[in-house]
Amino acid sequence: MTTSSPAVQTLPTRDVFAALDTSPRGLAPAEVALRRERHGPNELPRARRRGWWRDLAGQFTDLFAVLLLIASAITFLAYGLQEPRDTGTLQLAVAILCVVLLNAAIGFVQEYSAERTAESLQAMVPHTCRVLRGGERQELSARDLVPGDVVVLEAGDAVSADCRLVEAHEVSVNNAALTGESDAVGRTRQPVAAGPVLEARNCVFMGTDVVAGSAKAVVFATGAATEFGRIFRLASAAPRQRTPLQRQVASMARRVAGAALAIGALLFAVRLPAGEPLVDTFVFALGVMVALVPEGLPATLSVSLAIGVRRMARHHALVKKLLAVEALGSTTVVCTDKTGTLTQAEMTVVQVWAGGIRHPVSGVGYAPVGEVTDSQPVRELLREASLCCDARMVPPSDHEGWRVLGDTTEGAILVAAAKAGLDLTAEEASTPRVTEFPFDSTRKLMSTVHRDPHGGHHAYVKGAPQELLARCSAVVWKGERRPLTEELRAAVISANDELAAQGLRVLATASRSLPDGRPTQDEAESDLTLLGLVGMLDPPRPEVRDAVDACRHAGIRIVMVTGDHPLTAEAVARRVGIVRQPAPTVVTGTRLDTLDDDALDALLAGSGELLLCRVSPEHKMRVVTALQRRGEVVAVTGDGANDAPALKHADIGVAMGVSGTDVAREAAVMVLLDDSFASITTAVRLGRSVYQNIRKFLIYLFSHNIAELTPILVATFAGFPLVPITAVQILAIDLGSDVLPALALGAEPPEPDVMDRPPRSRRERLFSTAVMGRILFLGGIQSFGVCAVFFWHIHASGIPYADFTKDDTVYREAITMVQAGIVVSQFFNALAVRTDRQSVFRIGLLSNPWLLVAGCFGIALMAAISYVPFLQTIFNTAPLAPAEWAVLVGLGALLLAAEEARKGWLRHRRPADRREGAQ
Ligand code: ATP
Repeated sequence: MTTSSPAVQTLPTRDVFAALDTSPRGLAPAEVALRRERHGPNELPRARRRGWWRDLAGQFTDLFAVLLLIASAITFLAYGLQEPRDTGTLQLAVAILCVVLLNAAIGFVQEYSAERTAESLQAMVPHTCRVLRGGERQELSARDLVPGDVVVLEAGDAVSADCRLVEAHEVSVNNAALTGESDAVGRTRQPVAAGPVLEARNCVFMGTDVVAGSAKAVVFATGAATEFGRIFRLASAAPRQRTPLQRQVASMARRVAGAALAIGALLFAVRLPAGEPLVDTFVFALGVMVALVPEGLPATLSVSLAIGVRRMARHHALVKKLLAVEALGSTTVVCTDKTGTLTQAEMTVVQVWAGGIRHPVSGVGYAPVGEVTDSQPVRELLREASLCCDARMVPPSDHEGWRVLGDTTEGAILVAAAKAGLDLTAEEASTPRVTEFPFDSTRKLMSTVHRDPHGGHHAYVKGAPQELLARCSAVVWKGERRPLTEELRAAVISANDELAAQGLRVLATASRSLPDGRPTQDEAESDLTLLGLVGMLDPPRPEVRDAVDACRHAGIRIVMVTGDHPLTAEAVARRVGIVRQPAPTVVTGTRLDTLDDDALDALLAGSGELLLCRVSPEHKMRVVTALQRRGEVVAVTGDGANDAPALKHADIGVAMGVSGTDVAREAAVMVLLDDSFASITTAVRLGRSVYQNIRKFLIYLFSHNIAELTPILVATFAGFPLVPITAVQILAIDLGSDVLPALALGAEPPEPDVMDRPPRSRRERLFSTAVMGRILFLGGIQSFGVCAVFFWHIHASGIPYADFTKDDTVYREAITMVQAGIVVSQFFNALAVRTDRQSVFRIGLLSNPWLLVAGCFGIALMAAISYVPFLQTIFNTAPLAPAEWAVLVGLGALLLAAEEARKGWLRHRRPADRREGAQ
């Protein structure tokens, strides 16, 4: 059999198996191995990577690089024109070129590693599919599919290979990835006329999604042989996109570059009339301009965002876009599902109710060990409910106990049936399923139609009690079928409420006889006879309570959005701490439908406890939109295929990595590897800390720029003929001493009080007044220190200003002290910016060892510049005496002390001030 038989769509279903050399039971393991060898893994060949040299070349085309390259070229030219030639000019030209090269190297390595991170994160969410092999249903990696495999598809699944349908129940697919057509299209299993396979309505294709229904299909093409493989080559990297934060920083950097240009021009204008040679003055002004450009900033920013992404991944939250890291920090509302996110999704049926009598069920988990009390009257209920299930019980293996393959709600029903002594395989064989109407969370029902061994057919229906009860006309009461009177209906509702109030998830079961096996959905799901209710326990996740508390503390509102009964929802919400007040606001989907947008806005306006129950994914979407209208930053969880619109629309769509469908995972920007609500809280905490860290290194970098510029301005206006710090020295500080501490600040662990503040306002700018104030405060102190040491040293020598030359030892010592002064005070500055309000001694001076290592490296480099003769000639520096170092250390410590005093005053003045940015 060839991989893509052109006629596969024209064959009747029974011939499809023969044509693809397989069977309805799937392939045998030995055959799988052979085919795997023949066809290779089910993967698309990667597009050839863009050549690395092109990525590298790209680094030289951004604004800063171009600006610096021009500056370097002019400086080289100036060196050529100088009479006599000054090696200092040549050194400057080379230094600027080095800056460009170094930056390009950092940017290139950083981008390459970001790409690798994205790839490895993708690999962490395995793409799995369900197949029948040797009659067994298995879940395996989509990579392992081979032609001839029989796959089982459900709403929300991504199709992993090209397949011909052999069974189809109300199936529709979204072929947008292949055809660009985003409307769902129906699929059938019936043969169609020959023609392009892409148009065959009985085939589904790799890269598309099942949006409704369920199906079985036989794989006829895998990997590059699929239609998708023919048309597309996998792009190796996601398109680069910038987050608002990156844009803010880039625009700030551009403004600073503009200011640097203006300052350079100003210095040129002031110094020229003083009689200095034109070329020298020009080179000097250019040097100052280059020195003030914040070259390393964009790379440092990307690195710290990437660190955030990696940290989140370590805490089970995979962020697919950098944008989410930023939005996470300002999240104000989390709309969360219940099952699996707040609870463990490990369902155990603990009560069966039928005909007014409760039957407790013993045992916990999926092992069929336990008993249904007085099981005889409820055996029929459990038999029919379990025949209406798609899940499978998987017996224990060496490393795992009993498991459930598929929906855990259904798994619990199967386990209860087994506890009641039912042999499910035998039941399935004697009452085969002929058709089905799959579960969907808007209808909240599922039904299957079975052939009765004694003739005729039956529909078995299970689902949310309210929905099912509305379709029942009779009830089995004390062993007899009775009309569903108002009185009996009330009895069922009250039994349901009682179970729900205990926090149990409740499903009802009903059935009816049918004249034939091909009813419409409406026929199968109307005029039903109710058999009873099944109540299952789903214990809360132990870690959620603390996470909920943390959110509450951090001013984040949690809204529970569930398809479940209000009483179940409330009981669970109480257990995990989402509800504490006696009367939370509980709104059902039916009530939401009656509200117009204004009424909905009013409902969401308060900050009170809110539970949205019995809602459908469409409601979820409406609530997300309404919250965003109010200016909230909304994170929303989802798992089903029809949660995709809400996930896409929210600021942060969060999909479940374990229980979520492929479609939900595709639509979300964050995937939780463990499905737990606690991971959302951790991601928010890390998101907030990323933002804080970025502020820290911005304050750190910009404050020292002030300290580099001020002495130059002061000297110029004081009439001192030389500069207190040369451009080459400034470049040595920017690229030698400052880059590593800035990176280490970007990797600071979250501050202990990061979740004690309300969310950052969306309108708050990165460079807020508070941040600018702090830059001026720290930069001011540093400037004062270095100006003081420079002029003190110059004045102490007693030499008049006009007599100073570049080669003067006193001048060389003085400029060495300025450079060393900045480096040393930056060491203390790095410690000072680590906290906003808290004392840095409280978080521990040693708690970011990398920062200390980076700071010490900067000082060691400075010492080398001061003492190593070769470097002395390059930088025109001189050896400093121990006493001079001591003075510089004293000035640095003064900066830390002043900052500690400011923080102390802030804490004293506004002890209860919990505003973000109160720094
Ligand atoms: P949660 O917030 O608990 O995660 P949900 O929003 O995911 O709930 P759905 O899965 O849409 O809720 O289920 C809604 C209701 O449909 C459930 O309360 C239950 O009564 C019913 N239900 C759930 N799963 C099934 C199923 N497999 N077959 C029939 N009915 C089901």
